[in-house]
Amino acid sequence: MTNQTLLSRSLESVWHPCTQMKQHEIYPLIPIQRGEGVWLYDAEGKRYLDAISSWWVNLFGHNNPRIKDAIKQQLDTLEHVMLAGFTHMPVIELSEKLGNLTGLGHAFYASDGASATEIALKMSFHYWRNTGKSNKTKFISLQNSYHGETLGALSVTDVTIFKDTYAPLLMQSAQMPCPDWRLAKDNESAESYALRCVEDLEKYLSEHHEELAAFIIEPLVQCAAGMGMYHPVYLAKAREICSKYEIHLIADEIAVGFGRTGTMFASEQAQVKADFICLSKGITGGYLPLSVVLTKDKIYQAFYDDSTVRGFLHSHSYTGNPLACSAALATLAIFEADDVIRKNHEKSAFIQAKMQVLTDLPTSNLRYQGMIFAFDVITQNTQFSRQCYQTATKLGLLLRPIGNTVYWMPPYTITEAEIDFMVDVTKQAVKSTL
Ligand SMILES: *Cc1c(COP(=O)(O)O)cnc(C)c1O
Repeated sequence: MTNQTLLSRSLESVWHPCTQMKQHEIYPLIPIQRGEGVWLYDAEGKRYLDAISSWWVNLFGHNNPRIKDAIKQQLDTLEHVMLAGFTHMPVIELSEKLGNLTGLGHAFYASDGASATEIALKMSFHYWRNTGKSNKTKFISLQNSYHGETLGALSVTDVTIFKDTYAPLLMQSAQMPCPDWRLAKDNESAESYALRCVEDLEKYLSEHHEELAAFIIEPLVQCAAGMGMYHPVYLAKAREICSKYEIHLIADEIAVGFGRTGTMFASEQAQVKADFICLSKGITGGYLPLSVVLTKDKIYQAFYDDSTVRGFLHSHSYTGNPLACSAALATLAIFEADDVIRKNHEKSAFIQAKMQVLTDLPTSNLRYQGMIFAFDVITQNTQFSRQCYQTATKLGLLLRPIGNTVYWMPPYTITEAEIDFMVDVTKQAVKSTL
């Protein structure tokens, strides 16, 4: 089937995410037929290097034999069983492994990131209710934060274009000053700026702690905000202040988890243990939808009771799906077998060095954190993001700039030759869309 036939059939029947569908009158969809490593192939055999890991989910390349085999094996045994009243080996093993990795030993599953956010918010609220503090009902997050698009998650998200239309449907939440070092004053270091934001946080918490249930935060990198990065001291201090004022810290590691920032979880770099950690995206290596909220004994125990309604009566039909869990187990096995976190440090250094060629162009804030790389383009072109995306795809590179921020978050299996291609084409695409 040709690209053209696929395109018209898709536009007739599929409502695509995060898209004004009318724009597809001008900008064509790209119909993908298969993937291999970092490459996606369209119906006519043209290939695209997936520099953004298909919205940050893919870790070890498309068509990865180890993850694929694990799913196939699981498929021959058990495809799914409801997790209420039943259990199975993949979900047990995965929960034990994630508990060991995070130090949070109780795992509650869902299928996507936004649902994990909802679960963490509800659990936090319910914990305070179960422990006699039912006035703790409010949540705070950072300016420019992103925690998903369902109503609860959107309430703690701070991205105008996603949020404003739905404002009347959302719960009130407050946003704390954002420690993203791009917002620092000229003479201010990332660290001293972060500490200034900590002071604002402390002031707010000291005044409002009695009504606050939790502070939800993206550790180290605010990805959807355009890869905004901040000093780990902010996270470390936020942990201290939240403990002092009895407010839960929810680490939303949905995007930054599983090695993206250079450690398995970003919170590790601030030696922070959150009360809840939300994981999704990379958890299955980008194979199947799965998310999880991990929490600690103390919180779990507050729900453990003879009374049914003190329990956490939340569910999703596909909670703990065995196929998704088997993909996650295979993904974790690759981290161990291939010493991925250590090898990524070398790969990151290689990309950092290559990235310097972008300074020939009008760019600013060249930055990186582990396997996330970004820079801001200085241009008057109001259509920069869309045009840069278009030009890059024509040249065989999948880039999806966020406003004027161009970033790479490639699968960890990217080779040096593929990195060269990614860097060269990025430079070309940016240069021709300034
Ligand atoms: C993507 C993302 C979410 C939402 O996950 P979905 O699976 O898209 O619902 C939440 N938080 C962060 C930090 C994310 O990057």
